[in-house]
Amino acid sequence: MAIYVLLGPPGVGKGTLAEMLCAHFGFLHISTGDILREEVRRGSELGRRAQSFMDSGGLVPDETICAIMASRLQEDEVRRRGCLLDGFPRTLPQAEAFDRLVSQGAPAVERVVLLQAGDELLMQRLTARRVCGACRAVFNVLFTPPRQDGVCDKCGGALEQRGDDTEATARARLRVYGQQTEPLVRFYDQRGLVLRVDASQDKHEVRSQVCAALHLA
Ligand code: ADP
Ligand code: ZN
Repeated sequence: MAIYVLLGPPGVGKGTLAEMLCAHFGFLHISTGDILREEVRRGSELGRRAQSFMDSGGLVPDETICAIMASRLQEDEVRRRGCLLDGFPRTLPQAEAFDRLVSQGAPAVERVVLLQAGDELLMQRLTARRVCGACRAVFNVLFTPPRQDGVCDKCGGALEQRGDDTEATARARLRVYGQQTEPLVRFYDQRGLVLRVDASQDKHEVRSQVCAALHLA
């Protein structure tokens, strides 16, 4: 089964697309952001080390991320179900580390899906995003508001704003994306792997374009 990398700036909809594709095709969704946030919630050693980087909108050190991913990518389930990587690789050193894992037997990247949208739309999506504290469902007070203010439609839990979705931190994340992650587009373009998708469109439109291009039925 194939490994797909989702690439694109914060707020562009990588997590949303991943959830839709995984629900339908049974892929594994590996989100480094979700893994790190879970470690922070649990108060683990890893979570404590990662938190300050995440709160400031910067990146967690490459060694930390690569160690997490080295063990995940070797799991049988990854090969059996196929997977969508959401948040890894995020820097050139991470992409190079990924190549080394592949040479040691991890499955290789089949395609890189690059989701694109303008900065102003991204800022709106990020600062208006709310997440259910109980079931992690995602809402957006501008675009997909819950029926009742501050309350999750699915489970009645309280909606929260992610600490890094405030205006200043969201801007910092967009800057970091441009500096550290965007160079990966060229890296994977040289291998002819990049599929570009206009992610300012409706999420169902994004999904159907991706499915058509990847020949997912
Ligand atoms: P975003 O919406 O910014 O893409 P994520 O949920 O993917 O958010 O990640 C949240 C934070 O977790 C990032 O701002 C960063 O600090 C950290 N993080 C996630 N993945 C990586 C990675 N591959 N390398 C370094 N830091 C990461
Ligand atoms: Zn909920």
